[in-house]
Amino acid sequence: MNSNRKVVLVGAGFVGTSFAYSLLNQGGVDELVLIDVNKDKIIGEEMDLSHGLPYAPHKMLIKAGDYDECKNANIVVITAGLAQKPGQSRLELAVANAKIMKDITQNVMKNGFKGVFIVASNPVDLMSYVVAEVSGLPKSRVIGSGTVLDTARLRYLIAEYIGVSSKNIHAYILGEHGDSSLVPWEHCYVGCKKITDIMKEKKHPMENLQRIHDYVWQAAYDIIEKKKATYYGIGMALNRLVRAVLDDENSILTVSTYQNNEYGQEGMYIGVPAIINKNGVKDIIELKLNEDDQKKFNHSCEIMKETIEKEITPILNEE
Ligand code: NAD
Repeated sequence: MNSNRKVVLVGAGFVGTSFAYSLLNQGGVDELVLIDVNKDKIIGEEMDLSHGLPYAPHKMLIKAGDYDECKNANIVVITAGLAQKPGQSRLELAVANAKIMKDITQNVMKNGFKGVFIVASNPVDLMSYVVAEVSGLPKSRVIGSGTVLDTARLRYLIAEYIGVSSKNIHAYILGEHGDSSLVPWEHCYVGCKKITDIMKEKKHPMENLQRIHDYVWQAAYDIIEKKKATYYGIGMALNRLVRAVLDDENSILTVSTYQNNEYGQEGMYIGVPAIINKNGVKDIIELKLNEDDQKKFNHSCEIMKETIEKEITPILNEE
């Protein structure tokens, strides 16, 4: 593997370039290669981003390139494909984006890629499954951004509500990065104290927390309605994931990862807390869910399995 810290980004749209800008600002990557079907766009982005380098914290080579650059890359981040339109659910993008993921993954693998994939394109749980199946890599080396962004939104909103820094909010969103996600409130902590105990002491109803979760899953629809796309939050979240891999951190993040009978589910990618290091997903953190949360989680998984069977498998089987 390259001793340079090299990341290839496929898809230089709103999400991809927000991620690139976040890398430029925070540093930690030696080389960033941009790939997109729109060749003019990546040349323009290479120039624009590079012009910020004199004010960046670290040196970084940024260039427009092609799939041969994947050979010695540590990470390929995929943010290519169609984005949601106002009112459209992520699941409605499944067929079109699965074809795009298949094509991109074949191009990456043809060039001898041996690193870790990080997928953000939606619907991200299904797109991660496509990349894993087409690449043939161990499932641990294909990570979906899953509910990393949803979890950030949740932590931000709880922090505002409780009046404690979001850094001390240990709350996680599980399940689909989409409408069927859930929060296992019994496993949420503010610092070292259970949030359910804090709610009881303050005599605040649990519905207030439920309302925060409703707000989280509605957030993407609201942002898309108002400014057509969401990208800064996911750009930061992808940067966080890339750092966890490059720095071999063993950090716990809620990614979309393959279920091998964890949480009683198997055969699809879904968002759960997992330990992330240089090899991708080292381990899944299994929480003991209460009956209601387990039902919600199972529902999320069923949606994934059904869509895989009806819409994704036929695309994977196409020559
Ligand atoms: P965008 O339209 O701005 O960018 C998409 C880019 O992909 C374009 O530059 C396009 O030219 C490129 N592209 C399309 N097909 C390609 C191919 N075959 N090979 C290479 N490049 C290709 O869209 P966006 O707003 O950046 O969103 C990108 C994806 O990220 C969407 O699927 C969106 O739903 C998803 N997204 C995910 C999250 C998350 O939390 N996981 C959050 C926001 C958006």
